[in-house]
Amino acid sequence: MQWFKSISQGLRLDRLANIAKDALWQANCPLCQRPADGILCKDCDRQISAYQSPDFFQKDDPISSEIPLYSWGIYDGALKRAIAACKYENHPQIMEAIGEKIATTWQRSPHTNAISQKHQKLAIVPIPLHPNKLKSRGFNQAETLARRFAVMNNLPCHPQGLQRTKDTKAQIQTKGSKEREQNLAQAFSVPNTYSSKNSTQTKSVILFDDIYTTGATIREAIATLASKNIAVRGVIVVARTQFRK
Ligand SMILES: [Zn+2]
Repeated sequence: MQWFKSISQGLRLDRLANIAKDALWQANCPLCQRPADGILCKDCDRQISAYQSPDFFQKDDPISSEIPLYSWGIYDGALKRAIAACKYENHPQIMEAIGEKIATTWQRSPHTNAISQKHQKLAIVPIPLHPNKLKSRGFNQAETLARRFAVMNNLPCHPQGLQRTKDTKAQIQTKGSKEREQNLAQAFSVPNTYSSKNSTQTKSVILFDDIYTTGATIREAIATLASKNIAVRGVIVVARTQFRK
């Protein structure tokens, strides 16, 4: 029964139940359970789209003047609920639907065309989860999002580009900037197989995450990649929120 033990340890039962349910009711919307033509029903799709930000490119340069931040939506209402349902109710396909929306927005944006032309061989790297969290959730929502986006834009996706070496608290649970900083210090590493430290050519990547709050996680990931000669050319998130101090 060793095989059964390892399968049941690797996949949580509720995830298995959702996979079975999705296979049986393939056409149902994961948010409202009503029949759907696409991943989401038209009604939920419309509700999520109502939270699309008027500006994909964030003009205030919250990361730096060199690294643009793109946020598809505003972290509120139906979009906030959809992200929570994806992560906490085991519906990774919600992130696929959102990844498709971001891919379409990216294709239409004049800023992003400029990045693609300037930096050839761009690769997509999602912000990783720590293996403990990955095991309990069953999937990394940022990776699901990044993979869908990459396929639609014909770009390589490298989920192995960055690893989470520290099981950090959620940034939202930390108090004050000092604790947030300590929480994330050395949270990431770049595997030797992905590093281009000994190469003369700098790798160019676009980072992907679901939510942008203070940007501390993103900044730590950018610094870790930079130490291995990997340059982040842009950051894309589903939604941006204002972090309350
Ligand atoms: Zn629906």
